[in-house]
Amino acid sequence: MSCNKSIEQRFWPKVDRSRGEHACWLWKAACTDQGYGSIKVNGKTALAHRVSYALFGGDLTRARVLDHTCFNRSCVNPRHLRAVTTKQNAEHLRGSRPSNRSGIRGVVWQKRTGKWQVRVTHNRRAYYGGTFSDLASADDAATALRAALFSHDDYQPTAARADYEMQTELDGKEIARSAESDLVSTCD
Ligand SMILES: [Zn+2]
Repeated sequence: MSCNKSIEQRFWPKVDRSRGEHACWLWKAACTDQGYGSIKVNGKTALAHRVSYALFGGDLTRARVLDHTCFNRSCVNPRHLRAVTTKQNAEHLRGSRPSNRSGIRGVVWQKRTGKWQVRVTHNRRAYYGGTFSDLASADDAATALRAALFSHDDYQPTAARADYEMQTELDGKEIARSAESDLVSTCD
């Protein structure tokens, strides 16, 4: 008979949720030198806030980077974690396309009005940020629109629990693989 406890059974007794669902959930157990909560998963040290994110259905394979929006490194409330996905990184990094004529990402020439149009694609949807007669203003608007679109939209609290076991296993591997390198570079 195995005496192993599930990750959830080991995790939650280490968390202080006494101040409510929307407050910081403080990690009461071991912390890294950088102040992030840590817990062993499959024999490897994992960051507690990443484990929490996974336990709530967050997809760590997409969320390579988790920001603490509360700036409290020992907090493991998934509401306070903001994912930056590899897809987002790709969108951020993808350069302007030569066909858009402006040379600036998210800014295209609109023949009808004779102005620069701000157009940002996110999750295969196009979002429009207005038209501008000068390129610099259009560039600023495109940057602002990207910032608005590409943040706060990854955490899915209602993520299907049907895949939970499989997801947890996958996340465990992901956590183990990324634990060391993530300790410093991927938080805050
Ligand atoms: Zn917090």
